[in-house]
Amino acid sequence: SDTPPAGSLVRAEIDAAALRANAAALAADIGPARLKCVVKANAYGHGVDLVAPILHAAGHREFCVATLDEAMSLRSLLGEDATIMAWLYGPQTDLDAPLTAGIELGVSTAGALDRILVAAARTGVPARIHLKIDSGLGRNGLAPDDVATVLATLKECAGEERPRVIVAGIMSHFAVADEPERPETAQQQEVFETARRELTALLDSAGGRLGEADDLDVHIANSPAALTLRPVPGTSARVGLALYGLSPLTDSQPADLGLVPVMRLVSEVVNLKGIPAGHGASYGLTYTAEADTRFALVPGGYGDGLPRSASNRAEVSIRGQRFPIVGRIAMDQFIVDVGDAEVAIGDEVVLFGPAGPSATDWADWAETINYEIVTRISARVDRIAV
Ligand code: PLP
Repeated sequence: SDTPPAGSLVRAEIDAAALRANAAALAADIGPARLKCVVKANAYGHGVDLVAPILHAAGHREFCVATLDEAMSLRSLLGEDATIMAWLYGPQTDLDAPLTAGIELGVSTAGALDRILVAAARTGVPARIHLKIDSGLGRNGLAPDDVATVLATLKECAGEERPRVIVAGIMSHFAVADEPERPETAQQQEVFETARRELTALLDSAGGRLGEADDLDVHIANSPAALTLRPVPGTSARVGLALYGLSPLTDSQPADLGLVPVMRLVSEVVNLKGIPAGHGASYGLTYTAEADTRFALVPGGYGDGLPRSASNRAEVSIRGQRFPIVGRIAMDQFIVDVGDAEVAIGDEVVLFGPAGPSATDWADWAETINYEIVTRISARVDRIAV
């Protein structure tokens, strides 16, 4: 029907065709490496409940998230016919349910492997693990000494009557892949390759009891690496941002990379009034109208995930024309100075999307990155597939 759906005032439209096109283009570009779709943090704010089924229906079968809660939700959403891996958990996190659900786990500490072995024994399900190597980022992951400890533990496991783990993969994460001229990316690949060789030797010596070295899933590339390194290192790449049609590279627009932004964030004009010269706008009265003008009021604020730091900097698009946000962005609403332009109550306001500013423009205004702009869009905002 033509009736707009009831729902939130600020809406995130998710362009399913753009998402499918980005995933298909990326999968083709990185081949023979396979695409792992990164859908953590509610699919970078796009709504995992929409995004993951669209990708799955388009034939993509490998998904990555950070936490085990995210992994469990994704398993419920997608069913058994999907490979789901997760890498962020703590010493108290329950591992039994994720292992029983067939979630593949990144292993970043010797202690994590020990707990996985206990859980695997208790549940009777062999755990599929990916050794996570810290090749230079300094975040999660096994340091070289930890690799030795973990390999020693795995070697013992290989001697068990029924090994409790299958080594499905080895992984790492880049620190500066978005800056292609920097040398650290190649250095990280060398550290990673050393660990991969050690692991392969162990798998070979275990005679297939911990998994086959030929099947080992080797993955280090994120979006910037998948877009810039040829060939893409490894057997698969964990791609997040680029799937959503955003560029991780400062000097490339999505179109330059064959990508289409997936999220369009819109609101509407709910109040419109004449304002005399000298009148202020919003908390702190940080903006004063220089001449007589009109203020349009638009639902959307930091309660919806808009960055308050973009106050007095950001622009929106109404009827194809750009207008400035004036005064502070509040929790729920902001003011747009529309002057004497043809604008009416009920007009659509494009915060970002085609024919409006981009999420990357918002990142510049808020002095952050486009990853954060989309990911912080809050639960109050309805996500609608279009
Ligand atoms: N792999 C890991 C371990 C991550 O933390 C992330 C996201 O930060 C990704 C892959 C995906 O990165 P990107 O969104 O740049 O593709």
